[in-house]
Amino acid sequence: MRTKAAVIREPGKPWEITELELDEPRQGEVRVAFAASGMCHSDEHLQTGDSTGRLPLVGGHEGAGVIEALGPGVTRVNVGDHVVCSFIPACGVCRYCSTGRQNLCDWGAQMMTGMLADGTFRFHDDAGEDFGGFCMLGTFAERAVVSQNSCVPIDPDIPFDVAALVGCGVPTGWGTSVYAAGVAPGDTVVIFGAGGVGSNAIQGARYAGAANVVVVDPVAFKRSKALEFGATHVFAAAAEAQEAIVELTRGQLADHAIITVGVLSSEVVDQAAAIVGKGGQVTVTSVGRSWEKQIQLAANGSVVGWQRRIQGHVFGMCNPLYDIPRLLRLYRAGQLKLDELITRRYRLDEINQGYQDLDEGKIIRGVILHGA
Ligand SMILES: [Zn+2]
Ligand SMILES: [Zn+2]
Repeated sequence: MRTKAAVIREPGKPWEITELELDEPRQGEVRVAFAASGMCHSDEHLQTGDSTGRLPLVGGHEGAGVIEALGPGVTRVNVGDHVVCSFIPACGVCRYCSTGRQNLCDWGAQMMTGMLADGTFRFHDDAGEDFGGFCMLGTFAERAVVSQNSCVPIDPDIPFDVAALVGCGVPTGWGTSVYAAGVAPGDTVVIFGAGGVGSNAIQGARYAGAANVVVVDPVAFKRSKALEFGATHVFAAAAEAQEAIVELTRGQLADHAIITVGVLSSEVVDQAAAIVGKGGQVTVTSVGRSWEKQIQLAANGSVVGWQRRIQGHVFGMCNPLYDIPRLLRLYRAGQLKLDELITRRYRLDEINQGYQDLDEGKIIRGVILHGA
C-alpha cells in the first residue's frame, strides 16, 4: 500500500513530503489511518538536529485515527476502533509497566529508530530504503503500521484533532504538574514557557490546587493564552517573575519551578533553581541540544543547604493506558481545555509553514489534518 508522509532524510533540511510503500501489519501490529496529527516540538528537534535519531524517519508522534487492519495476534483493538497513539508504547508486562510506570516501558528503547518489535521497518521508499516512524509511529503519514501496544482506544465522539494532542503534549504538560512535580493545594508554581506543553502544565497546576500559577514567556500571545488556561500572573522575563515571587510568598520563594520552554538551556535552569525556596523542586520537561550541558549549578546554596530537588521525567510520569482516557474524561467534563490549544490546522503539505509559525511564537499547537 502507498502512503503520503512528511519525512526527514538529513538534519537541517526542511520536511519533505513524499510517497512511501507501507507493509502489511505483522504479529501484534495494526494499520492506522491517521485523521489528525499534532505538531510537537520534539519532531522539530529531530529535523533541526538538536536531537539525533536514526534517519531516514517519518515524523510525527501525536496521532489519532481509525484502525484499518489487524495483523495476527492482535487482542487490544479491533478494526474500526478510534484510537490515540501513545508516543511511548505500553507493553503491559515489562518491569516498568507492571509497576505502574508505563511511561518508562522498555519498548520506548526504539523511539528514536522507529524499528518495530521484530527488528524491521514497515515504511520503505522506492529505492528500497527503510524508514522508521518516530516513536514507532510516524503520524505525519496518512497511514502507518504500529504495534497494538502504541494504541489506546477512545470514544468515537471525541474529535480527532483534540484526541491527537492527548498522545504526547497534553499528558506531558498536565502530568508534569500533577505527577512529576506533585503540585499540592496552595502551592506557588512558576512555569517557564507557555507553549503546547506549558499550557497543559498550567492546567495541571490549577487542577492540583496551586494558589499561584506564575508564567514566564517572552511572547505576548502566549502570555495572554496562559491567562486563559489558568495562570494567575504572567511575566515576559524571569527577573520580573523573581521579584513578584518574593512579594507573593513573603520571601519564601516558590514551591515549584517547571521548565517547559522550547529548547532547554543552562540559563533557564539557573533561573528556575533561583526561584524555588527551601525544599522546592525544579521539574525539567524541555529537551535541550544533545551536545550541550544544561544543568551546571553550584551545589552549595542551590541544591545542598536549601534541600532543593531537580526532577527529570518523561511523558509527565503518566500511564498512557490509564491517563489518556482519564484526560479525555476531564475534557468532556469541561475541566481540561483542549480545543483552545489548537491555534491553527494545516494540510500535510503545509508542515514547514506550521513549524515556522511555531518558531515565530504564532501558535500554541498546530494540528495536521490528513486528507484535508
Ligand atoms: Zn511530543
Ligand atoms: Zn512495558
